[in-house]
Amino acid sequence: MTTFVIVGGGLAGAKAAETLRGEGFDGDVVLFGDETERPYERPALAKGYLLGKDERDSVFVHSADWYPEQKVDLRLGTPVTAIDRAARSVAFEGGALSYDKLAITTGASARRLSIPGADLGNVLYLRTLAESEALRAAFTPGARVVIIGAGWIGLEAAAAARQAGSSVTIVEPQPTALYSAVGAEVGEKFAELHRAHGVVFRFGESSTEFRPAEVSGKPPAAGDCREGWPVGWVVTDSGAELPADVVAVGIGAVPNDGLAQTAGLEVENGVLTDAALRSSDPDIFAAGDVANSYLPLVGHRVRLDHWANALHGGQAVAKSMLGQQVEYNRVPYFYSDQYELGMECSGLPTPGSYDQVVYRGDSAALEFIACWLNAGRLIAGMNVNVWDVTDDIQALIRSGRVLDPARLANPAIPLTDV
Ligand SMILES: Cc1cc2nc3c(=O)[nH]c(=O)nc-3n(C[C@H](O)[C@H](O)[C@H](O)COP(=O)(O)OP(=O)(O)OC[C@H]3O[C@@H](n4cnc5c(N)ncnc54)[C@H](O)[C@@H]3O)c2cc1C
Repeated sequence: MTTFVIVGGGLAGAKAAETLRGEGFDGDVVLFGDETERPYERPALAKGYLLGKDERDSVFVHSADWYPEQKVDLRLGTPVTAIDRAARSVAFEGGALSYDKLAITTGASARRLSIPGADLGNVLYLRTLAESEALRAAFTPGARVVIIGAGWIGLEAAAAARQAGSSVTIVEPQPTALYSAVGAEVGEKFAELHRAHGVVFRFGESSTEFRPAEVSGKPPAAGDCREGWPVGWVVTDSGAELPADVVAVGIGAVPNDGLAQTAGLEVENGVLTDAALRSSDPDIFAAGDVANSYLPLVGHRVRLDHWANALHGGQAVAKSMLGQQVEYNRVPYFYSDQYELGMECSGLPTPGSYDQVVYRGDSAALEFIACWLNAGRLIAGMNVNVWDVTDDIQALIRSGRVLDPARLANPAIPLTDV
């Protein structure tokens, strides 16, 4: 019997298993997950689930019954500890299993802060279901929440905390929100949205220490950080001492690529793959947050922490394992919801990759499409509270055509005619 092993029980791993069965693969499919929950989707953990609007059951990729029905051998709470490429087997506590093909879908982990006081109680992260539940419990009316990092996770957590009635201060070393994701100009629009909802930003500042709460309300002496004590203060490099009942840290994610690295695969900010999602070992593949894959559209490798990439990459990796011709070449796609704002972003508008931003629609009223151009070519488009335009935006990005910015900015001209 042929055995395909998938290491990593998140969205990418679950979609890979689903696609193997969907494509008619009738060998053994074994899916290892180190969490005790069956594979779930993470976006709601910072949105509807964090806000208490979504049911717990709605976050799972498949029902519990689906796995036995599809003969997918789901091994939860079972981290794979090593890959033996010569023997073509994976090791886990108490055993080993041979594979014919292996997919690594181990995802990413929240980047940890290592400053004095980082171990204090109520210093929380947001990656797992349990962490979302802990934050939800901590965001109470009147709680003083300090968020470290004005990236997507920090902003979505801020929106949830404000909607729960907590006060929110965000400490961010960059000059605006979302600086490395969308650049200064559009990042500032998100900062404005949050300010309008009462969030206080401290841009250009870094947290240097968390201090424990003391009854007197006076910050305790520097270095007095007894593990497990609740946090009381966030100290920044400007010398500010910010009172905090809760600290939420959202400073990015790091790929879980240690397993691959130890196995001798080529790894650099994730498992390096070609456009077929194949690693430097022809029998080992990678997809989702852990993969740093060659994207023909942009002509270099990219590692994406995007829900859509885990979904489609999981499907593509299964096809590649089955020996089908695969070229994974989708336009990167991301979405976010914050307060009354919903947005989708296609492409990668990172600073330095564009020379012009054009707005189509009313950016002050938060109903617009931000278009990032480089030498007149659209490299990314973000529709904010404007819907059903993603296909058109992606077609323009793919076309590589030089566009007239005035026509692009004119909502009376359909995107298909720009
Ligand atoms: C709070 C939050 C909100 C988000 N919101 C959005 C959003 O709005 N829009 C968007 O586009 N994207 C969003 N994302 C990103 C998106 O959720 C991720 O891109 C997606 O979860 C990646 O899926 P994955 O399967 O690659 O990895 P993961 O979801 O990380 O799953 C990998 C799994 O493998 C497990 N694992 C790791 N090592 C091992 C091992 N050795 N053995 C066994 N198992 C292992 C991990 O514990 C994990 O359970 C969000 C992410 C988070 C955390």
